[in-house]
Amino acid sequence: MKIICIGRNYAEHAKEMNSAVPTEPVFFMKPDTALLKEGDFYLPDFSKDVHHEIELVLKICKTGKHIEEQFAHKYYDEIGLGIDFTARDLQAKCKEKGLPWEKAKAFDNAAPLGKMVKKEDMGDLSNINFELKINGESRQVGNSKDLIFSFDNVISYVSKFVTLKQGDLIYTGTPEGVGQVRIGDKLEGFINGKSFLSLNIK
Ligand code: MG
Repeated sequence: MKIICIGRNYAEHAKEMNSAVPTEPVFFMKPDTALLKEGDFYLPDFSKDVHHEIELVLKICKTGKHIEEQFAHKYYDEIGLGIDFTARDLQAKCKEKGLPWEKAKAFDNAAPLGKMVKKEDMGDLSNINFELKINGESRQVGNSKDLIFSFDNVISYVSKFVTLKQGDLIYTGTPEGVGQVRIGDKLEGFINGKSFLSLNIK
Protein backbone atom coordinates (compact mmCIF):
# COMPACT_ATOMS: atom_id res chain seq x y z
CA MET A 1 0.00 0.00 0.00
CA LYS A 2 1.24 3.47 -0.82
CA ILE A 3 0.07 6.96 -0.06
CA ILE A 4 0.13 9.51 -2.84
CA CYS A 5 -0.30 13.16 -1.91
CA ILE A 6 -1.17 16.01 -4.22
CA GLY A 7 0.47 19.33 -3.44
CA ARG A 8 -0.87 22.81 -4.21
CA ASN A 9 -4.27 21.65 -5.41
CA TYR A 10 -6.18 24.67 -4.08
CA ALA A 11 -5.20 28.08 -5.43
CA GLU A 12 -5.60 29.92 -2.09
CA HIS A 13 -3.28 27.42 -0.36
CA ALA A 14 -0.65 27.75 -3.12
CA LYS A 15 -0.81 31.52 -2.52
CA GLU A 16 -0.40 31.26 1.25
CA MET A 17 2.73 29.12 0.64
CA ASN A 18 4.04 31.72 -1.83
CA SER A 19 3.99 28.97 -4.47
CA ALA A 20 2.87 29.35 -8.06
CA VAL A 21 -0.50 27.82 -8.96
CA PRO A 22 0.60 24.67 -10.82
CA THR A 23 -0.25 23.92 -14.43
CA GLU A 24 -0.06 20.16 -13.85
CA PRO A 25 -0.53 18.13 -10.66
CA VAL A 26 2.33 18.05 -8.15
CA PHE A 27 2.59 14.77 -6.29
CA PHE A 28 4.77 13.09 -3.68
CA MET A 29 4.47 9.91 -1.64
CA LYS A 30 4.43 8.75 1.96
CA PRO A 31 5.25 5.16 2.95
CA ASP A 32 2.74 2.85 4.67
CA THR A 33 4.52 3.55 7.98
CA ALA A 34 3.14 7.10 7.78
CA LEU A 35 -0.45 5.87 8.07
CA LEU A 36 -2.10 6.57 11.44
CA LYS A 37 -5.52 4.96 11.57
CA GLU A 38 -6.31 5.48 15.21
CA GLY A 39 -4.71 6.87 18.31
CA ASP A 40 -2.99 10.10 19.09
CA PHE A 41 -0.29 11.92 17.21
CA TYR A 42 2.98 12.45 19.02
CA LEU A 43 4.91 15.50 17.88
CA PRO A 44 8.29 14.34 16.54
CA ASP A 45 11.37 15.80 18.19
CA PHE A 46 13.06 16.72 14.89
CA SER A 47 10.61 19.53 14.10
CA LYS A 48 9.49 22.67 15.90
CA ASP A 49 6.77 23.50 13.39
CA VAL A 50 4.48 20.61 12.41
CA HIS A 51 1.52 21.87 10.36
CA HIS A 52 -1.93 20.41 9.79
CA GLU A 53 -3.19 20.00 6.22
CA ILE A 54 -6.72 18.60 6.12
CA GLU A 55 -7.41 16.73 2.86
CA LEU A 56 -10.08 14.66 1.15
CA VAL A 57 -8.74 11.13 0.65
CA LEU A 58 -9.62 8.62 -2.08
CA LYS A 59 -9.15 4.86 -1.76
CA ILE A 60 -8.11 3.04 -4.91
CA CYS A 61 -10.15 -0.14 -5.58
CA LYS A 62 -8.32 -1.78 -8.51
CA THR A 63 -5.02 -1.87 -10.30
CA GLY A 64 -4.58 0.71 -13.02
CA LYS A 65 -1.90 2.24 -15.19
CA HIS A 66 -2.34 4.92 -17.87
CA ILE A 67 -5.93 5.40 -16.72
CA GLU A 68 -7.90 7.67 -19.00
CA GLU A 69 -9.64 10.50 -17.19
CA GLN A 70 -13.07 9.42 -18.41
CA PHE A 71 -12.60 6.02 -16.71
CA ALA A 72 -10.83 7.26 -13.57
CA HIS A 73 -14.02 7.19 -11.47
CA LYS A 74 -14.00 3.39 -11.70
CA TYR A 75 -10.68 3.20 -9.88
CA TYR A 76 -11.72 4.58 -6.49
CA ASP A 77 -14.67 3.51 -4.39
CA GLU A 78 -14.26 5.24 -1.01
CA ILE A 79 -13.77 8.79 0.22
CA GLY A 80 -12.77 10.09 3.60
CA LEU A 81 -10.67 12.63 5.40
CA GLY A 82 -7.00 12.62 6.34
CA ILE A 83 -4.27 14.95 7.50
CA ASP A 84 -1.05 15.49 5.60
CA PHE A 85 1.14 16.42 8.56
CA THR A 86 4.10 18.48 7.40
CA ALA A 87 7.25 19.47 9.26
CA ARG A 88 7.16 22.95 7.77
CA ASP A 89 10.58 23.97 9.11
CA LEU A 90 12.25 20.93 7.53
CA GLN A 91 10.29 21.40 4.31
CA ALA A 92 11.40 25.03 4.04
CA LYS A 93 15.05 23.91 4.30
CA CYS A 94 14.53 21.18 1.69
CA LYS A 95 12.86 23.68 -0.67
CA GLU A 96 15.66 26.18 -0.15
CA LYS A 97 18.25 23.59 -1.18
CA GLY A 98 16.12 22.06 -3.94
CA LEU A 99 16.07 18.73 -2.07
CA PRO A 100 13.21 16.20 -1.88
CA TRP A 101 10.56 16.71 0.83
CA GLU A 102 10.44 13.22 2.37
CA LYS A 103 11.95 14.21 5.71
CA ALA A 104 9.21 16.79 6.12
CA LYS A 105 6.30 14.71 4.85
CA ALA A 106 6.95 10.95 5.04
CA PHE A 107 7.81 10.48 8.71
CA ASP A 108 6.00 7.94 10.92
CA ASN A 109 2.32 8.73 11.56
CA ALA A 110 2.40 11.78 9.25
CA ALA A 111 -0.75 10.57 7.47
CA PRO A 112 -3.67 10.19 9.90
CA LEU A 113 -6.74 8.75 8.22
CA GLY A 114 -10.29 8.99 9.53
CA LYS A 115 -13.43 7.16 8.52
CA MET A 116 -13.88 6.21 4.85
CA VAL A 117 -17.30 5.84 3.21
CA LYS A 118 -18.52 4.51 -0.13
CA LYS A 119 -18.39 7.31 -2.67
CA GLU A 120 -22.03 6.62 -3.58
CA ASP A 121 -22.95 7.72 -0.06
CA MET A 122 -21.09 11.02 -0.40
CA GLY A 123 -23.55 12.80 -2.70
CA ASP A 124 -22.21 15.22 -5.30
CA LEU A 125 -18.46 14.54 -5.47
CA SER A 126 -17.79 17.92 -7.05
CA ASN A 127 -19.35 19.69 -4.07
CA ILE A 128 -17.94 18.09 -0.93
CA ASN A 129 -17.57 20.49 1.97
CA PHE A 130 -14.92 19.71 4.54
CA GLU A 131 -13.55 21.39 7.61
CA LEU A 132 -10.87 21.09 10.27
CA LYS A 133 -11.58 22.34 13.76
CA ILE A 134 -8.90 22.67 16.41
CA ASN A 135 -10.12 22.82 20.00
CA GLY A 136 -13.59 23.53 18.61
CA GLU A 137 -12.46 26.45 16.46
CA SER A 138 -12.69 26.34 12.64
CA ARG A 139 -9.23 26.46 11.05
CA GLN A 140 -9.56 25.12 7.50
CA VAL A 141 -12.64 24.99 5.28
CA GLY A 142 -12.55 23.55 1.80
CA ASN A 143 -14.79 22.32 -0.97
CA SER A 144 -13.95 19.85 -3.74
CA LYS A 145 -15.38 22.33 -6.27
CA ASP A 146 -12.25 24.45 -5.69
CA LEU A 147 -9.79 21.67 -6.60
CA ILE A 148 -7.44 22.82 -9.34
CA PHE A 149 -7.11 19.19 -10.49
CA SER A 150 -10.22 17.04 -10.03
CA PHE A 151 -10.15 13.55 -8.50
CA ASP A 152 -10.36 11.99 -11.98
CA ASN A 153 -7.68 14.28 -13.34
CA VAL A 154 -5.32 13.42 -10.49
CA ILE A 155 -5.86 9.64 -10.85
CA SER A 156 -5.26 9.80 -14.57
CA TYR A 157 -2.14 11.93 -14.20
CA VAL A 158 -0.50 9.95 -11.38
CA SER A 159 -1.19 6.61 -13.12
CA LYS A 160 0.96 7.71 -16.07
CA PHE A 161 3.96 7.44 -13.78
CA VAL A 162 2.97 5.07 -10.97
CA THR A 163 0.75 1.98 -11.17
CA LEU A 164 -2.16 2.38 -8.77
CA LYS A 165 -3.16 -0.66 -6.75
CA GLN A 166 -6.10 -1.66 -4.61
CA GLY A 167 -5.81 -0.08 -1.17
CA ASP A 168 -3.61 2.82 -2.23
CA LEU A 169 -4.65 6.18 -0.82
CA ILE A 170 -4.63 9.53 -2.55
CA TYR A 171 -4.56 12.64 -0.35
CA THR A 172 -5.97 15.21 -2.74
CA GLY A 173 -4.55 18.47 -1.38
CA THR A 174 -5.31 21.01 1.32
CA PRO A 175 -7.22 24.30 1.25
CA GLU A 176 -5.84 27.48 2.83
CA GLY A 177 -5.47 27.93 6.56
CA VAL A 178 -2.64 25.53 7.35
CA GLY A 179 -0.88 26.14 10.63
CA GLN A 180 1.05 24.71 13.53
CA VAL A 181 -0.30 22.04 15.88
CA ARG A 182 0.68 22.03 19.54
CA ILE A 183 0.64 19.53 22.39
CA GLY A 184 -2.86 19.38 23.85
CA ASP A 185 -4.66 20.32 20.61
CA LYS A 186 -7.74 18.33 19.63
CA LEU A 187 -8.20 18.05 15.87
CA GLU A 188 -11.61 17.20 14.43
CA GLY A 189 -12.40 16.77 10.74
CA PHE A 190 -15.85 17.05 9.19
CA ILE A 191 -17.31 16.25 5.78
CA ASN A 192 -20.60 17.95 4.95
CA GLY A 193 -21.02 18.62 8.67
CA LYS A 194 -20.46 15.02 9.81
CA SER A 195 -17.52 13.92 11.95
CA PHE A 196 -14.94 11.84 10.05
CA LEU A 197 -11.74 12.27 12.02
CA SER A 198 -10.65 13.01 15.55
CA LEU A 199 -7.21 13.03 17.09
CA ASN A 200 -5.22 14.55 19.90
CA ILE A 201 -1.75 16.02 19.69
CA LYS A 202 0.59 14.71 22.37
MG1 MG B 1 -0.86 18.38 1.55
